Amino acid sequence: MGCDGGTIPKRHELVKGPKKVEKVDKNAELAAKWKHCALSQEKLRRPIVSCDMGRLYNKAAVLEYLLDKSAERPNTEVVVHIRGMKDVKELNLTDNPEWEGEGRNTKGDRYEDMHCSMFICPVVGLEMNGKHRFCYLQTCGCVFSDRALKEVKTDICHKCGDSFKEEDVVVLNGTKEEMEKLKERMDEKRAKAKTKKSKKTKVAETASKPSDLKEGPTQPSSDGKSLTENDAESSQTGGPSGSSIAPKGATASATKRSIQKMEEKSEVFKSLFTTHSSAKRTKDQTSNWVTHTPYHF
Ligand SMILES: [Zn+2]
Repeated sequence: MGCDGGTIPKRHELVKGPKKVEKVDKNAELAAKWKHCALSQEKLRRPIVSCDMGRLYNKAAVLEYLLDKSAERPNTEVVVHIRGMKDVKELNLTDNPEWEGEGRNTKGDRYEDMHCSMFICPVVGLEMNGKHRFCYLQTCGCVFSDRALKEVKTDICHKCGDSFKEEDVVVLNGTKEEMEKLKERMDEKRAKAKTKKSKKTKVAETASKPSDLKEGPTQPSSDGKSLTENDAESSQTGGPSGSSIAPKGATASATKRSIQKMEEKSEVFKSLFTTHSSAKRTKDQTSNWVTHTPYHF
């Protein structure tokens, strides 16, 4: 059994070997992370936000996700920890003066520099292209290179002057280990916030308790008594028929108070109404047909 021409195929020509794992260019992948929204995968453009994990997003994409979490979209696993806009911080980025925008290479006659970045570190001028570590401050959202933060030890933001603490620094697009640490920190922070909240509600509860106790024993019992007494009375007086007629009569008399009987109203005023004697007709004056709807007048 052979192929045309009498050749005999060898094993490697017939049996497919294991698939070759496609190697992703690590640099390209890294560069893409710094240029694209982690959620929508679109090009990053202002306003850009970041989360506790240090990922970069277009604010619009996060908003869209939060507005309708049920909609099917790819990549939602990267934003499950974002519960609301309070969980992201808008970044205060510094433009790279070298950046000429995406449109400069439309003809394809220029060298596409993958590592030219839209943003730079405002302190040391490093480009934010994935080659250098960058961090942002959760207090003010300003973005710096790691080098700037390490070289100039300070607790005041280099850019806007807001004070910050060590724990407000979040690494952008960090390594796996860094991401895990950030996640731990986020969980801790949220757990703390929860206990704070529950403490607050507890305080509120204890504050409201004493008053409850004061009112507690007296009110409900008296209320209960009066209720039962009323019930007993109504049943004794003969139930619904007797009790319901009385209020009806009262309301009827109130509404039936005729204008014609009002002494304080003038005769002219009274004559405006059909109940006035001048408006009443004798039997031959009345017609056989009376249209009551006012539309026909
Ligand atoms: Zn700042």
